[in-house]
Amino acid sequence: MKNQYYLPTWIGLIVFFLGLKLPSSIAQNIRWPEGKMMALSLTFDDARESHPKVGLPLFQELDAQVTFYVIPAAVRDQLEGWKALVEDGHELGNHTLVHPCSGNFPWARDKALENYNLPAMRQELIAANQQIEALTGVKPKSFAYPCGQSYVGRGQDTRSFVPLIAELFETGRDWLNEAANSPIFAELSQLQGISMDGKNFKEDIKPILKRAAINGDWVVLAGHEIGEEGFQTTKVGMLRELMAYVSDPQYGIWMAPVGEIATYVKAQRAVIRKSLSEDLTLAATFDHGLDADFAKGNSSLFTAAAYNELGTQEEGLHFPAAEISEQKGVHGHALAFPAKAKPVAYYRAAQNVDYQAENWNGTISLWLSLDPDEELAPGYTDPIQITDVGYNDAALWVDFSDKNPRSFRMGVYGDLAVWNPKNIAPDKNPAFTERLLPATDLPFGKGIWTHVVISFEGLNTDQGKAAFYINGKQQGERQITEPFSWDLEKAKVFLGLNFIGLLDEVALFNRSLSPQEVQMLYHLPGGLSSLLPDRKASK
Ligand SMILES: [Zn+2]
Repeated sequence: MKNQYYLPTWIGLIVFFLGLKLPSSIAQNIRWPEGKMMALSLTFDDARESHPKVGLPLFQELDAQVTFYVIPAAVRDQLEGWKALVEDGHELGNHTLVHPCSGNFPWARDKALENYNLPAMRQELIAANQQIEALTGVKPKSFAYPCGQSYVGRGQDTRSFVPLIAELFETGRDWLNEAANSPIFAELSQLQGISMDGKNFKEDIKPILKRAAINGDWVVLAGHEIGEEGFQTTKVGMLRELMAYVSDPQYGIWMAPVGEIATYVKAQRAVIRKSLSEDLTLAATFDHGLDADFAKGNSSLFTAAAYNELGTQEEGLHFPAAEISEQKGVHGHALAFPAKAKPVAYYRAAQNVDYQAENWNGTISLWLSLDPDEELAPGYTDPIQITDVGYNDAALWVDFSDKNPRSFRMGVYGDLAVWNPKNIAPDKNPAFTERLLPATDLPFGKGIWTHVVISFEGLNTDQGKAAFYINGKQQGERQITEPFSWDLEKAKVFLGLNFIGLLDEVALFNRSLSPQEVQMLYHLPGGLSSLLPDRKASK
């Protein structure tokens, strides 16, 4: 995978030596401590006999701290060894009391997950934590799913116990996965664990680490016994080679137990969230009506009789431009456009868009739900259009093309008089096409929500550019060097022009967001509201 997130260090150095402030879009990425390129956790399950016997001296020699997911009864059997492991800084995690798995394992038939229910699992997890704490003084905050299985019950009564793990622990580790964990995306209650049992370093483990270093990921390796050979055994020789690689600074690996890295990841995510929250200029969730939940300027939705009859504008819903659709949103309610209509709905741009006559930066984020080919009426439609004059004159928008099969495009056009002085029609004008960016991903569909972002920077400089994202994935970027001259009082954030479908979670920011931040917005638990509690609308 291509590295989209980390700029080469030399750019940072140049910026540093020029004494320039780093653009915030570069600063707002999850970074591993001390310039490390990736994170690594070694984990071992079941409190096997070899952990105190072989692991304890080996990890002392290699100066490595790892995570052991333990069964209390097995800890009790070699208590002194386990106390020594804790003393050496290893982490103890919870792996249940009796290691229930699918009854298809003959040894698990009498403790089959198929015969469990959620209250029984909750009891067991709490009891295991209490016993581990009583034995070792450690209260586990990490968990590993026995056999990597996370369900209880059968058929229609089957339930996932992932929510229970999310409630009781900081992390839950899966088993026999293939992927590393993205620090920005990973669901911590379902961390991916890659097996290291029976593996060799060069052939099996090193390629995983190389890939993770490129992507800035967190690799969690999982094993059982520690020894020379045998079933479910992580080889001592592999661990020695691995640790030699880890301790070579050129590979940039931060190795620590799962709990320590999880705490760091959570703190970094909180920093990004806070900065997203602080840099909002408008947020409309439609969960409490048509007005924006947060707005630096006027939070009211305005309506007018038509796009070319803005003189009729009034605060509130005086023209049937849109309506709230209850509980149909990506979160909560949505703004619905049931039919193609002449009336238009908009927020005022003044202060709600952080327009700058020089070096203008910002981000537009919204969610759409529709089947374009089935639902849209003939003609172009702009789910969002921000301008003071029109779509081709100092405007930012996304639109669907006029007929099936519909394409979905980003349009960022500066002053018409500059980019198109003769006002040549779009279909005959390469200057129009150059500024248009069609999405390559079209995940739209009825009942499906799609996240759309325009992140722009340096508008009103000769280095203006705008990036287009669908569901967190960049579709491309366009350079826009012509100026955007606005009469700010006239500028508007139009919603749903000629649109039929649902729209939700409109957010405007006063800076361009990094690809990581766009991804974070895309999978923000709880949605836009979760950025709002500490923000108050100005009106
Ligand atoms: Zn196990």
